[in-house]
Amino acid sequence: MNAIEITGLKKSYSATVEALKGIDLSIPQGEFFGLLGPNGAGKTTIINSIVGLVRPNSGSIKVMGHDIRKEPLAAKRYLGLSPQEINIHAYFPIGNVMEFQGGFYGLSKKESKQRAEKLLKDFGLWEKRKVGRFKLSGGMQRRLMIARALMGKPKILILDEPTAGIDVELRHELWEFLKGLNSDGTTILLTTHYIEEAELLCERVGIIHKGKIVACDSPTKLIEKYRFENKERKGVLKFVRPGSLEEVFVNLTGKSLAEGAKEWEVSRDLQL
Ligand code: ATP
Repeated sequence: MNAIEITGLKKSYSATVEALKGIDLSIPQGEFFGLLGPNGAGKTTIINSIVGLVRPNSGSIKVMGHDIRKEPLAAKRYLGLSPQEINIHAYFPIGNVMEFQGGFYGLSKKESKQRAEKLLKDFGLWEKRKVGRFKLSGGMQRRLMIARALMGKPKILILDEPTAGIDVELRHELWEFLKGLNSDGTTILLTTHYIEEAELLCERVGIIHKGKIVACDSPTKLIEKYRFENKERKGVLKFVRPGSLEEVFVNLTGKSLAEGAKEWEVSRDLQL
């Protein structure tokens, strides 16, 4: 059984905004999977459809075999979400935020306290347990989002741009933590703008562009298949490391995403 099974997923927000144009995606249990795509490609719409925040127009989504429409609670029991937008109360002490979350997953008060303590310590936030989120740095707030997502011991952790706006050192720390979590058996689905993040962490990467998955494979295979071999490196390609996932990205989307989510439009004639 796959952790996540998506078939024929379509979502239009209006007559003119077709965010997902038919997504098929299977993520086996235990996989570290990355969705990589430019702004507006549809990454968050996929994630929000999985967790039930967006209602798709058609298609089906199963989480550990449970259809999210027919058995939403059974499906959600397996999921932990760290959304893109920080959505934690500004003034509520973060220790209480964590314990509250445990309650949503049916943990007793004692279990919630213990788990909150462990996670806050793992994420270097224990000293801050009595203060509100507004007193944390941006990086600490991101860590708190992930810690909260782990309160229910999810089998599947979904992270929407977890390292956006985090400095390099902290990002590397978070990567190590996520790798450890994955090797302990947690399936991870993340979206990212950071090519390096996808390349280093993910067993498979789905490249999404204009509501479609245009390629999906391991970074190595994607590079073998879609690199610019024997082509003169002009325009933005001059700035792209040869044989990298970024090169694949430029090839498939006509865009380049560099560290810090800088974007350049690349005209087709520059690529050829
Ligand atoms: P980003 O990397 O910028 O977060 P994304 O790949 O996550 O982008 P989505 O947020 O899924 O992309 O957006 C896909 C498309 O759907 C975009 O054209 C966006 O403007 C549109 N969209 C997203 N949410 C809504 C909404 N609530 N109402 C209307 N249009 C929306």
